[in-house]
Amino acid sequence: MTAPVLVSCAGATHTGLRRTLNEDAHLAASPVFLVADGMGGHDAGERASAAVIAEFAGLVGKESLGLEEVRRALADARTAVEELVTQGTSRAGTTLSGVVVASVDGIGYWLAVNIGDSRTYRFADGELEQITVDHSVIQELLEDGQITPEAAMSDPRRNIITRAIGAGSTTDADYWLFPAELGDRMMICSDGLTSEVSEQRIAEILGTEPSPQRAAQLLTAEAVDAGGRDNVTVVIVDAVSVATHPGSIVHSDEIDEDTRPREAVNGEVR
Ligand code: MG
Repeated sequence: MTAPVLVSCAGATHTGLRRTLNEDAHLAASPVFLVADGMGGHDAGERASAAVIAEFAGLVGKESLGLEEVRRALADARTAVEELVTQGTSRAGTTLSGVVVASVDGIGYWLAVNIGDSRTYRFADGELEQITVDHSVIQELLEDGQITPEAAMSDPRRNIITRAIGAGSTTDADYWLFPAELGDRMMICSDGLTSEVSEQRIAEILGTEPSPQRAAQLLTAEAVDAGGRDNVTVVIVDAVSVATHPGSIVHSDEIDEDTRPREAVNGEVR
């Protein structure tokens, strides 16, 4: 038995030009590809993001993961972050975004997970598509039509998130399950990338740099060159082999109704 999705992957991170600490953490080791952006002042954010990534590192080496395993790791991660809070590291919290390799009847799938405003994208056939939906005040204002995407870029509320692991938040993550396709390039990043580099430019780099390591480094460097106001982290995952068969159906009934994004209640989420 081989893994349902074989990948080539890499990660890159940079403290940026304004911060003294890098509170981002990441993991790029099959079947787990994640970015966590910590918050909380002093070293609280660094410890929170590291604690969450350490929890998921225990899943590295498996061929694929199920929703329950991801949920359990997330629950354990939340406990670890809450322990930081009780130890006096008040308000420690972190985002978490990314994908794990999943298997449905032997077919390769991506299971995306998100809490907070780090993001998971899929780049396929030259198109960049954001898979995750930010848990942020700006996202809510955009959905309500109270703000334009242009105004959102400079809105002073753009750093306020509405869900986190820790930081007093108890709400669950969102999950998306969708078939992996040969040639999929998944990109996971902290907001230090997307607040500095346009999606158009991100797509350009993803489309012209075949090496995941080089692409992650180029994107990170681009964010730093654009101002580097925040820590920036990029993980790239290329699907180089996918177990699939013709006419395969999408099984997303594993996903609870209440954890689906609101625009994708019926069936496959793309
Ligand atoms: Mg950040």
